[in-house]
Formats: sequence, structure tokens, C-alpha cells
Amino acid sequence: MNLHEYQGKEILSSFGVRVQRGTVADTPEKAVEVAKQLTEETGTGWHVIKAQIHAGGRGKGGGVKLAKNLDEVKSISNDILGMMLITPQTPAEGKLVNQVLIAEDVYYPGDSEPNEFYMSVLLNRGTGRNMIMYSTEGGMDIEAVAEETPHLIFTEEIDPATGLLPFQARKIAFNLGLSGAALKEMVKFVTALYTAYVKSDSSLFEINPVLKTSDDKILAVDAKVTLDENALYRHKDYAAMRDLREENPIEVEAKAAGLNYVDLDGNVGCMVNGAGLAMGTMDLIKQAGGDPANFLDVGGTADAQRVETAFGIILKDPNVKAILVNIFGGIVRCDRVAQGVVDAYKNMGDKINVPIICRLQGTNAKEAKELIDNSGMEIISATEFQEAADKVQEVLSA
Ligand code: GDP
Ligand code: MN
Repeated sequence: MNLHEYQGKEILSSFGVRVQRGTVADTPEKAVEVAKQLTEETGTGWHVIKAQIHAGGRGKGGGVKLAKNLDEVKSISNDILGMMLITPQTPAEGKLVNQVLIAEDVYYPGDSEPNEFYMSVLLNRGTGRNMIMYSTEGGMDIEAVAEETPHLIFTEEIDPATGLLPFQARKIAFNLGLSGAALKEMVKFVTALYTAYVKSDSSLFEINPVLKTSDDKILAVDAKVTLDENALYRHKDYAAMRDLREENPIEVEAKAAGLNYVDLDGNVGCMVNGAGLAMGTMDLIKQAGGDPANFLDVGGTADAQRVETAFGIILKDPNVKAILVNIFGGIVRCDRVAQGVVDAYKNMGDKINVPIICRLQGTNAKEAKELIDNSGMEIISATEFQEAADKVQEVLSA
């Protein structure tokens, strides 16, 4: 589950990681209020107004701006709130900005060269260990750094039995070119950051930039935090941070119904049991010249209720021109699934406005095919995988 920058910073801060301070606002008036408050608390006169969307690269897209007085706080917030912000990480049409973060300006005017670092914490799946990735080349596109100057990106792997050791934190600070007070501050920062990562059950922290101020403070200016959804049950307060406005509405509905659904760009809706078969089905549709509209794993129990829910969700996508049902009857019997498909079809009446191709294979496949063929419904049955994909192409070109 992805979080907004301001939420990520809240979590970091709760574990003692120093962050650029700020408060979120959803109107220009509220923005001015929190800016005033921030000035009282921190003494800052200047504020940065930062669009809160689930995508990076906001600075380049015009979603991060400096305000030098309260009038500017108001006018900039007014401009950014409600805009469709386009960055290299958003869809082409951009993402709607519902909230802005009003943060203290931490780039002191006197700083000729603010020191920006890159730091992330993530799981190295190859070794099964967490690692800290870091670089002196912060503040910019880390993908470009990885491409052009990979030797400037360092990694430090952490042994799960010992956790991050003090010498590792010092090595990181040293490799970032720090010494004296700044080195000590960085050691504290890295140590707190790693603790936060582990204790919050995150799967990714990306802090770009980590800033060193001229008075040797080290702080997180940005925060991309991804939480491990499987651990959310033990973090009810984090679960409440979910912003459904940032997520695909059909996917949200499917998840609530317990279906594994991913929206895609094509026109062939897929209803499949099992993630592997779903992947295979998408491949076959492609090979036959089509384009899958979704990935959908209905799981083990494909009864009428579930099939109906699944059809409903698939049909919410206006691009869908045909639906391929591809079920393997292992534990679940094919004739039961076929009955489910027929019942769902009956119940939905004219809500089903595209051809359905149904392939059931496995236990009682023969009975299932008969059931479909004799149902009087306009469901096209198929036995073989290829046959099913070809029939999809046929109805699409008809
Ligand atoms: P991103 O573009 O989505 O990664 O958003 P960031 O939070 O990283 O902000 C983008 C850029 O805005 C940073 O790299 C900084 O250069 C700049 N920025 C962020 N905070 C401040 C600030 O307090 N003062 C000034 N002057 N610039 C800031
Ligand atoms: Mn950033």
C-alpha cells in the first residue's frame, strides 16, 4: 500500500527520523493557517507547497513550489489544489491533487550548495536481506544516476540476525563524504530510518533527497513509503491512511469482493481461477492477436454469486468487447462452475452485452460443456485453450 509523502513523514518522525516539518491542507485558506502555525513553531518565513499525489517527479511537473510570504502560500496552494499534475510517473492525463503539504523551507538562502543525498531501504529478494541503497547524487532522477554513473550508488546489506550494526551506519555516513557533526547526525538518521523500516513493516522507503543543511542537520525532505499489506492487520493506524482516491476504483471494488483484479488496457475481459492460469490466459489472448482487459483470479470457489460479481466488475470497463472464462476444475468441479456461469448469466439479463466464451477443463468437463450448450444462453463453449482464444478473436472480428 502506497502512502502520501506527508503520511510517510509522520511514520518516519514517530521513530525519531528527522523530517522537514509540515502539515497537509485541502483549501488555500487552511494552507495559510498551517503556514502561520509552522512559522510560530519553527521560525520559518518561507514555505514549500507540495502536491500530495501517489507519484514522484512532482517537482519537475510543477507540483513543488516555494512561497516567500502568506499571499504566495495562498495563491500557489490555490493553483496546485485541483490541478491535474503530470509527472513522468503519472498516467498521461495526470493525477488530481486533493491536498497540499505546507512544509518549512529547509534550503537556507545562505546555503550556496545544499547537500542532497539519496537513500532507500528495501528488500533484496536475491539474498533475502534488507538493504540500504544510498548515493551522493540525491535530489535527482536516481534511475538516471543508475544508468549513467552506477558506481555512485552504494548498497549496504543487513543481516537479519543482528540488524543494522553501528559500523555499517558509520560506513554509510563516511561514504557520503561526511565528517564531524554531520557524520554523527547521519549515523543517527540511518539508524532511526532502518528501525522505522523494520518496525513499520514497510516494503520500501525512498528518501530523495536526504538533506544536509549548512548547520549540519540531516533530514528527510521527501518520503516515499510503501507498506506491506500483509502486515497491515497489526498497524490499524497505518491501514486508516489508505487514500482510495489514489487507487483504481474498479480494483478497489474487486478487492472488497475478495477478487484478485488488475485493470489493463485491452478489450478481452478474463475470468480465470488461479494466478498462473490467469497469466497463461493473458499470454494466449495476446498470441491469438487480442489484448487482455484485465487480470482476474476468482480463486477456488467459482459459484454463481462469485461469477456474477466477477462479471459485474469486468463489465465496468467500457473497453471490454468479449469475456473469456477459463476455469480449471481441480478441486472445484467444472459442472458446478458451469452452473454458476449459467445462473449468473440468467440473473444479469441484458447487463451482459458482450459475447462470452467459456472454457472449462478438468473434473466433469464433459458435463460442464453439455450444461452450457443446453442452457439456451448465448455462451460459446470451448474445450481446448487455443480453441477458446481463437473463438475470442472470431467474435471480436465479427
Ligand atoms: P519529487 O519531485 O516528487 O521527488 O518531490 P520532492 O519532495 O523531492 O521535492 C522536489 C524538489 O523540491 C527537491 O528536490 C528540492 O530541490 C525542492 N524542495 C523541497 N523542499 C524544499 C525546500 O524546503 N526549499 C526549497 N527551496 N526547495 C525545496
Ligand atoms: Mn523526491
